[in-house]
Amino acid sequence: MEINQKSRRVVFLLSPFQGHINPMLQLATILHSRGFSITLVHPQFKSPNPSNHPEFTFIPISDNLSESKVSTGDLFSIVSALNKNCEAPFKQCIEQLLKADDHHDRISCIVYDGLMFFAQSVADHFKLPGISVRTSPAATILAYALHEQGYISLLDLMSQDQVPEIESLRLKELTAVMRENTTEAILELRAAFTDSLKKSSVIIVNTMNFLEQEAVKIVQEMFPASSIFTTGPFHKLAPTISSSLLKEDTNCISWLNRQSPKSVIYVSFGSLASIDEKELLEMAWGLADSEQPFLWVIRPGMVRDSKGMELLPKSFEERVGERGCIVEWAPQKEVLEHEAVGGFWTHCGWNSILESICEGVPMLCRPFFGDQNLNVRYVCDVWKVGLELERGEIEKAIRKLMVDTEGEEIGKRAKHLKQKVDMSLKEGGSSYSSLNDLAEKILSF
Ligand code: UDP
Repeated sequence: MEINQKSRRVVFLLSPFQGHINPMLQLATILHSRGFSITLVHPQFKSPNPSNHPEFTFIPISDNLSESKVSTGDLFSIVSALNKNCEAPFKQCIEQLLKADDHHDRISCIVYDGLMFFAQSVADHFKLPGISVRTSPAATILAYALHEQGYISLLDLMSQDQVPEIESLRLKELTAVMRENTTEAILELRAAFTDSLKKSSVIIVNTMNFLEQEAVKIVQEMFPASSIFTTGPFHKLAPTISSSLLKEDTNCISWLNRQSPKSVIYVSFGSLASIDEKELLEMAWGLADSEQPFLWVIRPGMVRDSKGMELLPKSFEERVGERGCIVEWAPQKEVLEHEAVGGFWTHCGWNSILESICEGVPMLCRPFFGDQNLNVRYVCDVWKVGLELERGEIEKAIRKLMVDTEGEEIGKRAKHLKQKVDMSLKEGGSSYSSLNDLAEKILSF
């Protein structure tokens, strides 16, 4: 569908996290390809590279985040500070955009990263429709909402054990993992997030209907005033774009070209998770003992209090030689698409999982925090396209996934899931239709 009347401007508000910037820029690219003009507002703290996206207008806003706050790495306090500090600058920014607004480039809505939930009140203030984007699975919306008093009825149902099953798992089990170890401050943030969803006109989730049909249905029931769109996986609908904050080391692709099909295990824990020195060494020797070729991302800062790579002993390097390739940051989507890759040892970030299932790559799961603890249940128990790693069992787990019959079965299911993804992206498929409906919806504002 092309927009041939006056053009429509969509204002995006980003959060400063790699795992959120990627899907938000992909969504912006998708809408741009449908004829919308895009303005990207982002906190100063981390800016995507504007020169990678000459088609967008970038506007930084002040976030007042101190170095000390950022360096704590405490995500919840960073999110909380962003929601407090960015509201006034964002309001001012929208006000200026509206003043400069002309009839040919009218702002039609504000599309915000769900973590930046204050944006909904700014949208309400200017009587603009607000669109909240969830870059994690739909089930996380339920896990957050279940804390809120307004959703007592669902809690009641749960206590009576009448909650519908999501495939083979009870919603209760799936969402319970995200309700462990929560503080009052976290609960408050989650309630504010849920509240913004209630007021939003549209909720877009980077997921696919067939992946979490039940969860999506319940989300729709919980937020009857908002339209829910499951328009994922964004990265498959967006033309190739790079939104990496770190420089991708493409040498690993030439190394992959020299490996046999499906022989390599790709190892990456995303942009935030960190490990200690002991775990790094366990990983190293597990990879060495597995005898499989491996591509390992050791991001600067991934090993707490250390640069990382220099901790690896000479004896390890001598033992693995050309069989291992270690980089600081990989072009992950390209890696997962490569025919040499047969498994992904992942921290279970949602983008990583989507990227993996889109290429039919089975996973070895080592979740760290937040939604990763829910995502691992989907991968291992619901879709059954991965194995959960038990500490001390690295070598065995890698061989189970990459060589043994159990791994073969998992691989078959991963291939089958990929076929479903491909179907949903084709004309008439659920993601394809959802994108058309979303574009229509935005045009109707
Ligand atoms: N990524 C990458 N190169 C790497 C590791 C990760 O490009 O070496 C990308 C990956 O493709 C994904 C994102 O970084 O899009 C990480 O998001 P995810 O949700 O998996 O995890 P998070 O970083 O949010 O924990």
